[in-house]
Amino acid sequence: MTTTGEEMYALVERLYPLCRSITGDGVRATLEIVGEYLPLQVHEVPTGTQVLDWTVPQEWNIRDAYIADTAGNRVVDFAASSLHVLGYSVPVSATMPLAELRGHLHTLPDHPTWVPYRTSYYQPEWGFCLAQETLDAMPDGEYEVRIDSTLADGHLTYAEHVVPGQVADEVIVSCHVCHPSLANDNLAGIAVATFLARALAERTPWYTYRFLFAPGTIGAITWLARNAERVNGVSPAHGGPPGRAKRSAGEEPGAGARVEHGLVLACAGDPGHLTYKQSRRGDAEIDRVMRHVLVASERPHHVAEFTPYGYDERQFCSPGFDLGVGSLSRTPYAGYPEYHTSADNLDFVTPKAMADTLAVCSEAFAVLDRNRRYVNLSPYGEPQLGRRGLYDSLGGRSDAKQAQTAMLWVLSLSDGEHSLLDVAERSGLPFDTVAAAADALHGAGLIKA
Ligand code: ZN
Repeated sequence: MTTTGEEMYALVERLYPLCRSITGDGVRATLEIVGEYLPLQVHEVPTGTQVLDWTVPQEWNIRDAYIADTAGNRVVDFAASSLHVLGYSVPVSATMPLAELRGHLHTLPDHPTWVPYRTSYYQPEWGFCLAQETLDAMPDGEYEVRIDSTLADGHLTYAEHVVPGQVADEVIVSCHVCHPSLANDNLAGIAVATFLARALAERTPWYTYRFLFAPGTIGAITWLARNAERVNGVSPAHGGPPGRAKRSAGEEPGAGARVEHGLVLACAGDPGHLTYKQSRRGDAEIDRVMRHVLVASERPHHVAEFTPYGYDERQFCSPGFDLGVGSLSRTPYAGYPEYHTSADNLDFVTPKAMADTLAVCSEAFAVLDRNRRYVNLSPYGEPQLGRRGLYDSLGGRSDAKQAQTAMLWVLSLSDGEHSLLDVAERSGLPFDTVAAAADALHGAGLIKA
């Protein structure tokens, strides 16, 4: 039987060869494959569209690229790895001596067998990325260089998948889809997000969960520009009103809903410990939930303060939006030597690590979904639990004592100020026990949400 970890790994394997960038057919092909697992709503935003302080760039597509020696042998070949071309390279077709070509070559001298990942999105540039040892083996002389790419007006592509909840208020889960053949930084996050959406759909969550598969930075900015009013009820200062008018009817399943919480998934598949990077607010509910779940699960982990670099939490937490959005990674951004190199490959991520990341997300959202504040409707003295059958319901349970203690804690702290997570933390009881006690008390009419 295939485990979910293995299924996620198989998805990463399928996506790995594709040449993704911030725009273009590689992103579309990626979303098409993800779409086999989850129905996606794909959005195409035209080049030139103003999005907050940015503009949607021209679309980049590439068919072939190589450096060939005078005998016609391809010394560097895009067909072997999508990393070999500087992302967003303008087209080139020329013959030039190695001395001149060197200015367009990128290597990692400290890791001579690895190919670096480099891009030049907003400067017209062309280049190749190759292993230092390949370069060292290239004799002086003439080389044919060819990059068969196009930069033309087109679209920026991103996709959404919504798991409907019991309330319209939303949790966003976002991952970037713009890196080419890099397994951990990009693909593992996509795989975990995909399987998380499927798992959530099976349990009809409290919140509505909106999954966002978008190119890094410009994709998140585009999404925010088009959803700004819904996100925080105000128009952004730049770029005028967000482009809601352009959206067709039916495109806003959560119209009127607010984005309450969110999580950015990145570097989700390496065997290192989990790292949770807090939102800019630091005390957002998602921050408290993630800290609680990581501690309670006794997983080795690290909780990091917010910094204004990293992944798309930068955009979601920018002060105009200031959303309660944190970021979950294993070994974080730029924290491993394989980061942004060909060594971030299929050997670097494991089914087990991805399954672990998925499990933490699932546990955290289970807590988030049940974390409510209640008011004790019988606050003058302790209500008589036995009369209401609340002791009987515990009869024979091995954890009856703990369940009873949990009821007393929930009654004690249900003053409308404290959430169930507060109760769990203050009492030291497992969140599940506290939530079950609240359900029982609610069923007996002793507390109300
Ligand atoms: Zn990256």
